[in-house]
Amino acid sequence: AVDNKNRIDIDYNRIKIHRSERLKPLVPNKDLVFGHTFTDHMLNIEWHAETGWHDPIIKPYDKICLEPSAMVFHYSFECFEGLKAYKDKNGKIRLFRPEINMKRFQRSAARISLPSFNEKELFKCLKELIRLEERWIPAERGFSLYIRPTLIGTQESLGVGATTRSLLFIICSPVGPYYKTGFNAIKLLATTENVRAWPGGTGDVKVGGNYAPCVKPQIEAAAKGYQQNLWLFGEDDEITEVGTMNCFVLLKNEHDETELVTPPLDGSILAGVTRDCILHLARSWNEFKVSERKITMSEVKIAAGEGRLLEMFGSGTACIVSPIKGIHYRGLNIEVPLDPNNPSNQTGPITRRFADTLMGIQYGEIPHEWSVVL
Ligand code: PMP
Repeated sequence: AVDNKNRIDIDYNRIKIHRSERLKPLVPNKDLVFGHTFTDHMLNIEWHAETGWHDPIIKPYDKICLEPSAMVFHYSFECFEGLKAYKDKNGKIRLFRPEINMKRFQRSAARISLPSFNEKELFKCLKELIRLEERWIPAERGFSLYIRPTLIGTQESLGVGATTRSLLFIICSPVGPYYKTGFNAIKLLATTENVRAWPGGTGDVKVGGNYAPCVKPQIEAAAKGYQQNLWLFGEDDEITEVGTMNCFVLLKNEHDETELVTPPLDGSILAGVTRDCILHLARSWNEFKVSERKITMSEVKIAAGEGRLLEMFGSGTACIVSPIKGIHYRGLNIEVPLDPNNPSNQTGPITRRFADTLMGIQYGEIPHEWSVVL
């Protein structure tokens, strides 16, 4: 990682704010499409290897002007984060465990030799931007302002090496609930031709280079009628992630214990904020065994065959949880139960309980230290 010893770090006190003189019209909540609408302003902070971080600037949302030789265009010097700001019923703005996103951003940057930064100062700048964009945070449950911090290498050079120039920017996008009409359970194609991540690779950080190669398998899965890929790894087809979400399996294990299983953070799995919350909640409920352990397709297949597979879901900031109703795996259709008491329900009871609890915390209805009032 490029450290900032002897260089100037990000300093919130030096922030400059240029307000937009022409504010955009707000988009009605019902018309919001994920990631299509952007707010009036953005945060920019430039970094030069010789000097360090320049003054943070909040300015009108605008194009970025870079030479075609900028390193981001050639070698994927790009990492990003995704978190949301919520408006509670008292009109207060809330963020959800933002310090984890700041730390993960730092780890992603370090992995691709982009400069490190003072997370606390960056977080103060982020809060300033969110305060300025307050009118864009929809005041309706299920709606929020998606925040996208991004760091790119901008040096003009075709040489493969650490960049001497970087740009950190933050943009914001108002978003609606992932499922407009309640839950919608998804079918997965267990992908055996392509691999998302591998030991020693970059699957545990949020770098742009991880995402583009996953789109082709995603298109192929969609063409066959599957909404997401189930990413596997290794000769025994261990489950890793689902789409761009972490993966959870609830089953009765071979010792007849109810167990919630998610793959361990072995270096190829992204340490999701939602994943961490679900593990914490499940452990605090203390009603079933909670394991971060390897789980293979063969274990899931056998459990399903013996009626021991209970629920399965993906987890992530965008959807909180995404219930899974089936997996196509090497020619076999594995059915995943949803609600045993109500077959028309699109989610199992435990999956729903995680979603309701997390949403309650995010919107300040359930008091919890995870929800940070701005
Ligand atoms: N895995 C991948 C590959 C992701 O891109 C994301 C989204 N950040 C997640 C998991 C879920 O992480 P989080 O709960 O922090 O949104």
